[in-house]
Amino acid sequence: MNWNEWREKARKLLNEGVAPAEAVWNDSPEFQFSVLERKPLEKPTIPKEFLEIGPLIAAARDPDRWDLLYRIVYRLNHESIHLLNVTVDNDVKRAMDLVKSVRKDIHKMHAFVRFKKIDIDGQETYIAWHKPEHLTIELGTPFFARRFGDKPWSIFSPDASAHWDLKELTFGPGMAEHEFTHQDEFDEVWKTYYKSIFNPARLNLKMMRQEMSPKYWSSMPETALIHELVRETPQRLQKMAAAPQVRAEVPAKLGLRDLKSLASNCTTCPWAKSSTQTVFGEGDSQARLMVVGEQPGSEEDLAGHAFIGPAGKVLADILNDLGIKREEIYITNAVKHFKWTPSDDGKARIHKKPSGGDMHACKPWLEAEIAAIRPKVIIALGVTAATSILGRLVKIGEERERNITNNALAENVIVSWHPSSILRAFNQEDRDQKIAELRSDLLRAFKLSAL
Ligand code: SF4
Repeated sequence: MNWNEWREKARKLLNEGVAPAEAVWNDSPEFQFSVLERKPLEKPTIPKEFLEIGPLIAAARDPDRWDLLYRIVYRLNHESIHLLNVTVDNDVKRAMDLVKSVRKDIHKMHAFVRFKKIDIDGQETYIAWHKPEHLTIELGTPFFARRFGDKPWSIFSPDASAHWDLKELTFGPGMAEHEFTHQDEFDEVWKTYYKSIFNPARLNLKMMRQEMSPKYWSSMPETALIHELVRETPQRLQKMAAAPQVRAEVPAKLGLRDLKSLASNCTTCPWAKSSTQTVFGEGDSQARLMVVGEQPGSEEDLAGHAFIGPAGKVLADILNDLGIKREEIYITNAVKHFKWTPSDDGKARIHKKPSGGDMHACKPWLEAEIAAIRPKVIIALGVTAATSILGRLVKIGEERERNITNNALAENVIVSWHPSSILRAFNQEDRDQKIAELRSDLLRAFKLSAL
């Protein structure tokens, strides 16, 4: 049974008023239910939120998912249409756990699928094998049709397969891993790419296993290199330490006005030439709370002020809502120049994420700003800001509720979402959650700074 078949059956049962305890669901298209008590409904209501999460729950590898879905849809109609907002409810909690797990599985599919090129009757075709944790082939593969729509491809998994013929995405039966044994030059391409992005300074085997679970390794050619790269790490680290790294030269103990003036002439990085100007921090020179973002965007680059573009508006709305005045705090970025690349048609400047080298180059300016202001609390928004302040790779979702008190730059460091991640949110639910979390982190930081 799939989500659409379940919907059809569930609608009939709801119309007839069959209670969840009566229905016995299983994966077969046939199912049984006994008649105990019925509360017929003329027109069942299915809220939009349920239709958004329903297909994700239906894709979970959980034998109870159909019962759970029916219990929720029945309760939405008989108890409260707002049931999904009751996050402490056991059914809602279980549903949200499954949604989270399925979304994560889809994300891993997008990250770990590796295509191999084969020739079928003279036509270049791409195939891949992937073993998802859940039944996510139908939900996860439309992404590849959008991303690689100009090539025919197939993705096989033990449960199902997806096939793109340049016009239509269709689904078929699965395939065992041992039946899928193609090897080609694409393996070499992936290996070269992986070798080029492997950073020995960030080697953390435990984290690597968490992020890229060994269960996916068999279909990822680059993982054959992991042992070799790990073995070479000490030599590569030595080489990196010996290589000269650019870093802005900033005189000690300058006030904000002098720092801003000096930074306006900084040309340490190539981005200084391709952007309009240095965008230095602004705000109260004695602020107890400092907000640090990533780097200026296109609008900030043109105007010369931090956080005034679309992400800045998200931040401004939250600050207004919390009653925090922008002029009472200090707002800056970890990197002070706009790094960008032209769009395909050459008409727009597309933001490029700052590298570790960019953060390293610009950190003296950030340290000098912090030394001049001496804020009690720094809130770092996004991975770049958090990594620059803490000097290590940071996962915002895992650390945002902490108050980090062992950092040399400020008594308290809090990390939270960058407002641009709210603009890029997966869906409304994700957006609302990130706004609520950023709001709560900013409020916590502000209250702590006032103590
Ligand atoms: S990004 Fe920072 S270090 Fe690089 S040129 Fe701009 S101000 Fe200087």
